[in-house]
Amino acid sequence: MAQIQKLTPTLSNQIAAGEVIERPASVVKELVENALDANASQIDIQIKDAGVTQITVADNGTGIASDQVELAFLPHATSKINSTQDLFNVKTLGFRGEALASIAAVAKVRIITSIDAKSGTQLEIIGGEFQAPMTVAATKGTIITVEDLFYNTPVRLKYIKTLNTELKQVVDIVNRLALGHAKVAFTLTNEKKTLIRTSGNGDVQQAMAGIYGRKTAADLVACQAQDADFTIKGYTSLPKQTRANRNYLSLLVNGRYINNYQLSQAWLAGYGSKLMVGRYPLGVLQITAAPLLVDVNVHPTKREVRLSKEQQLAALVEQAVSQALESLNLIPDVPVDL
Ligand code: ADP
Ligand code: MG
Repeated sequence: MAQIQKLTPTLSNQIAAGEVIERPASVVKELVENALDANASQIDIQIKDAGVTQITVADNGTGIASDQVELAFLPHATSKINSTQDLFNVKTLGFRGEALASIAAVAKVRIITSIDAKSGTQLEIIGGEFQAPMTVAATKGTIITVEDLFYNTPVRLKYIKTLNTELKQVVDIVNRLALGHAKVAFTLTNEKKTLIRTSGNGDVQQAMAGIYGRKTAADLVACQAQDADFTIKGYTSLPKQTRANRNYLSLLVNGRYINNYQLSQAWLAGYGSKLMVGRYPLGVLQITAAPLLVDVNVHPTKREVRLSKEQQLAALVEQAVSQALESLNLIPDVPVDL
């Protein structure tokens, strides 16, 4: 039998990274969520080669104090929770303290961060090795640059799909985060080409126009519903404005984008028979729930959450959508032979 030994920190970080960081879009998601948790009002994302070569996320949030920057990159280090009670009352998007450590385990990372407009800290981590931190000129906020994703884990790199597919994933996640946070101004630039720009003025319909185009945004109807446990607010498309799949339905619970089959089925059910077979609406529904009803600690990427009272919520989603559509008194959009 081989000897049992404890994994080196580098190796265990690389293994843990596999759960959180699957592709460039995962890095973008984690960095943007950190910026949102830091109360940024402006988040600028720049990528090269769909993020495989480089991802830079710059925010104007709180920044990290100089004596905490290295700590932020250690596994299981977080400023967001510190008790079991907190774990069941999570109000931030992050709380596991894994993202920065995981990213630094599988890519080259540079951070420049400042808690004021005077000076900041720059730190580079290459191959899991911390370089000496430096004091640099900086504005308030954080800029993180991630280069050469999976350069030291070639097997992972092999799983990267075509740049086009990876780019689509990045655009998709930024779209949803921007839709869910209309008060934050987002830009996404790939090789100098701006792909997403939202104003951050808080108007969800305008954010949708920035993402799906003005014409599509004009074909939306406002939805709203509330019961003792949940509040739902958002927009869903007119039955004539559809897509070939359900990827354009964005559900957010307490600002967190989630995948939930039952809730998206309820969303579709709200249309009754108004949709053509094989066509799906688009839109965004923001659900507000007491944190106690939402267990986000189910999956490392937090895309799956466990919802208490899920059936009750599904019924409310259906009601929000059906009432909004009924209020329009829609005449079926069936072509008529005259
Ligand atoms: P988590 O978000 O789960 O706490 P991360 O590894 O993503 O874990 O980040 C570790 C810590 O670094 C965070 O808890 C936060 O204090 C700090 N941090 C990360 N990104 C930012 C940022 N953009 N602005 C301010 N603080 C940040
Ligand atoms: Mg985080």
